[in-house]
This record gives sequence, C-alpha cells and structure tokens, in this order.
Amino acid sequence: MMRRLNGLFYGMLITAFGICQASFGQEDRWQQSVSYQMEVDMDVVSNQYTGKQTIAYTNNSPDTLYRVFFHLYYNAFQPNSMMDVRSRTIVDPDRRVTDRISKLKPNEVGYLNVSQLKMNGLDVSFEQVETVLEGDLPHPILPHTTVLFETSFDGQVPLQVRRSGRDSEEGVRYSMSQWYPKISNYDYQGWHANPYVGREFYGIWGDFDVSISIDKTYILGGTGYLQNSNEIGHGYEDPGVTVPEIDGEKLTWHFYAPRVHDFMWAADPKYTHDRIEMDNGITVHHLYIKNSQTAPNWEKLKSYTPAAITYMSEHFGEYPYKQFSVIQGGDGGMEYPMSTLITGQRTLGSLVGVMVHELIHSWFHGVLGSNESLYSWMDEGFTTYAGNLTMANIFSDVPSGFPHRGSYAGYERLATSGLEEPLSTHADHFNTNFAYGSAAYSKGSLFLSQLEYIMGEGHLAKGMLRYWNTWKFKHPNVNDVIRVMEKQSGLELDWFKEYWVFSTKTIDYAISDVSASGQQTKITLERIGLMPMPIDLVVTYTDGSQEQIYLPLVIQRGQKPEKADGPKRILTERWPWTNEQKEILLDRPLANIQSIEIDPSLLMADIDRSNNVFSNEK
Ligand SMILES: [Zn+2]
Repeated sequence: MMRRLNGLFYGMLITAFGICQASFGQEDRWQQSVSYQMEVDMDVVSNQYTGKQTIAYTNNSPDTLYRVFFHLYYNAFQPNSMMDVRSRTIVDPDRRVTDRISKLKPNEVGYLNVSQLKMNGLDVSFEQVETVLEGDLPHPILPHTTVLFETSFDGQVPLQVRRSGRDSEEGVRYSMSQWYPKISNYDYQGWHANPYVGREFYGIWGDFDVSISIDKTYILGGTGYLQNSNEIGHGYEDPGVTVPEIDGEKLTWHFYAPRVHDFMWAADPKYTHDRIEMDNGITVHHLYIKNSQTAPNWEKLKSYTPAAITYMSEHFGEYPYKQFSVIQGGDGGMEYPMSTLITGQRTLGSLVGVMVHELIHSWFHGVLGSNESLYSWMDEGFTTYAGNLTMANIFSDVPSGFPHRGSYAGYERLATSGLEEPLSTHADHFNTNFAYGSAAYSKGSLFLSQLEYIMGEGHLAKGMLRYWNTWKFKHPNVNDVIRVMEKQSGLELDWFKEYWVFSTKTIDYAISDVSASGQQTKITLERIGLMPMPIDLVVTYTDGSQEQIYLPLVIQRGQKPEKADGPKRILTERWPWTNEQKEILLDRPLANIQSIEIDPSLLMADIDRSNNVFSNEK
C-alpha cells in the first residue's frame, strides 16, 4: 500500500510542481511550496492516532535555510501550556476556553509528538517546544531547491475545548483540525513559527494526499476530494454503484486536495450526509447529526449554501474548487480550505449566517490567504463585509436597510471603549479578546466600507474583483490591498491606510455654524476627530430638492465619481488636512435651506453623528 501510494505520489509531485511553476509564479513576491502525503491510523477507542508524512518542500526564496519549524498545535491542549496560561490570565477570557485546559485529565489532553524527522533521508536534530518543533537541518536548503521531509508522529485528540477536538458539546466525535505536523511558513518576512495561544493560522499552499484509516462505521468529511468514493459509499459513491462489503474493522478514506494551505477532517458514525450538485459543477456536502432540532434547518440550508457560493463567485471572484463541505463540528464556526466546521443546533438565521461567514473565508482565508497573525482583519473583516452583503442578498429575513449596521455598531463600541489597539497589532498580542475581535471583524469590515465612501461604490466593487485577480494564492498584506484600490480609483490612499490600520485615531466631523451672509449662506465645518476624511455634505432645500457639496482631502489627489442616483454635486472644494475648520459659501439664502447633513449615506465611520446635521428650525 505504502509503496504503491508513494509511486503515485511522486508522479503527482512532478505534475503538481509543473503546475506550481506556472500558476504559483509570482512576478513580484516569491512564496514557498509544499506537497504533503500522509497516512493516518485512528483508534476510536483510545482517541489516539499514528501517522507518517512525506513532505516535498520547495524553497522558492532567495535565502538559504538552515532551520525548519513545524506546528504541533495539539500540544496546546495541556495544563500550563501557553494557550492555557493565556486563556486563564487574559482580562476577558473566551468563555469556550477559560480554565478548561488546566482541568484536562491525561486521557483528555491533546498531544502531537514527532518521533522521527528526516530530510532527504538524513536525521534532522530537533526539539519540541510545546506547539512548535524547532529543527536544525543536516544540510542547508539552497534557494530554488526541493527537499523531502519524512516524519513519523503520534497524537491524542483532545477533549474539545477550542475549535478542534473530540466529543463536542453537540456530540460530534471528531473535529480534526490542526492535527498533523504542519510546516511553518517562511516568507519575505521570515519564519512564522508562532506558538499556538488560541488565534488563527498561516500556511503554505500545496497539495495534500491524505489516507485515513478509521473504524468502518464512521462517516468522514473535510478538505479534499474523496478518491475512493465507490469503495467508501456513505453517500459519496457514484449513482448506481453498489459499494462492496468490507472485511475487517477499518476503512481507509483517501482524500486529495490540490492547492490548499491546510487539511481538516471530521468524523462521526451518526452523520447524515446530504450532497447537492450545483449547475456549475460544484458539489456541496452537508454532514450533520440529524434530530428534531437540526433536521428542518439543515434541509433548508441545502438551498442557501449554493446561493452563497454563486453570489460570492459573481461579486468577489470565482470559487476555484469543485467542492465545499459544511460539517457539524467544532465549537461555533471555523473556516478550513474547501470546508467549514460549525455547530449545528441553531436557528435558521444563525445557521445560514454562520455558514455564509465561514464559506466566505474560502475567498479571504483560503485563496487570498493573508497572514492571519499579522493581518487577521484582512480575513475576518473582509469576510464580515462580504457576509453582510451576501446575507442581505440571499436571506430574506435580514432587516432591510443598511447591511453593515452591525459592523458599525461594533466599531463604535471599540472606538469609544478606551481599549482599542491598532489593527496592525499581531493577533496574539492584543491585550483583550474584545479589542482583537472588534478590530478584526468590525474595524476590518469598515476598512472596506470607508474605501467605498472615499472611492465611490462602483470602484470598491470593481476593486475587490481586481484584488482577487491580482493577489489570489499570494498572501497579500495591507499595502497590497491599498495599492489595488489606488490603481482602481486613481486616488492616493496611503493616508487612509496609515490612519485606519496603524493608529487608533477616530473620525468626527461637525457642522459648527450656519449663518446668513446676504443672499448667501455660510457653512462652517469642523474636524473634531484626529483622522481626516473627505466630506459629502448634502443640502436639503425647503422645496424638497437636494444638492451635494463635495470636500475631498488635498492629499487624496483626486475625487470620487458623482453618484448616479445621488443629489447633484454643485461645488467641490479641497480640504487641507491641517485645517480644523472649513468655511463654505453656498449661493442660496438661508431661508431656502431646510437642513444640511454630513454623509447621509452613513458610510463614514463618524463616531459622533449628533453634530452632523444642521436643521433650520423655523
Ligand atoms: Zn471568521
């Protein structure tokens, strides 16, 4: 079995690397590539497993590598681990974790031990420092060369505390994420061997060939296309195929996932497996434990998952895989390549909302793949923004009106809390879970809403597709996304990036005075907050008509296009950011004015809107 698979594996390697050179090819930024072959044997009684890996690792960097790092995430689930200490000592503990790791018994802890590590057949000397293996290579890896790592490992699945684990609250036996020795990413910023303290992940795109032997009553799903579906059955077999009876206790499930940066699987003997074929050739798999609570909502979910894939493919870039699986498991919702683990006993709105959010991660986490430690908001925030639009489009029970309302409310709580830290903070190092969550999800979502306001709605939508086409499979950073938006809009946007991402300065503009000046009206605007923004000022006259005064910043070096269905723009005057006040003379008498408002679109994240409106009370 091993030998045959290896032959197959090396054949695929050659093909895969042929493709890699062409399609991974970055003109402007190199990245490592990797190809995993793994065989795992799972014991569902002891919850322990053994495995072997062969990893072809290609150093596309200009650097010679002397060391290697692997993540061993399951070692976090042990009393006194860094994750345990961090979870207990942070001022606002995650309610899913709190002190639960400290109370795990020996048969409940998680572990992942590498017993052997070789590179090109030579022993690598290594030390396991909790969740990270530090290896000193027997010889350096030169630029533009490929080496083969081989490992033997054994693990124990932790009782589920956070994301991964066994025997979840909803009774799912195995949620297997972050379960194998995963080579750490090395990029233009060096190694990213972050210890696992609870936040998210960063990986190298490559091919995963994974064979899992497990008790034959278990039904599996996860990342990757099942290669032996007609031997496995359980709803994976081709129509009309009779699946042969298997002698023995175990079945071996063989999955293959091309061009992904992680591999998750889940397993339970109680799973119901729904399979939905979309017209575009994508297969959607739903795996859940059917009962009176889950059955009606998961039945309805069968139309929502394809609808969300279709909406996202049209508006944010075409989904590049032929499969997506929504699997009951985990402890809330968590994204993995080609799949998600979500808890399943939810109201329909919650089930669809979480599915949509985790599915959309396929775009920002799965395919754009920004480093989630350094730019978590480029994943969570952009996913939230696109999720707001997707839900408004596919789910009729969403309250009508402004789809991003929740994101604005979250940001305002953060900005007025005194706990805000810049978006540029490394995800592991925020002082509070509150500041991390609000920054990543809400302020990150508003990054795009603010660009929509600054650039104009059409430019943002086109810019998101351009971002996808430019940076898919390349791990973009904050500068990469802002440069795309600059090219799309023709505006200078560096100032916006610097204020929004690298500072906690806030936006607050006011109409401080309106007075008659002969047949004209003098409007005085004031910048109270420290962050400058262009201003849309809309004047409503007593006859009900509206006109707009547009005040772009000098430093944006251009203007957004006039909104086709908005009020007519009658005046454009540039505002230097150094000036706290700006006076405008409007060529209409004060008596004709009913009201004046700063940004009635509500897109600008002004933290005090009470001073945005002048009302000409008679
Ligand atoms: Zn998310």
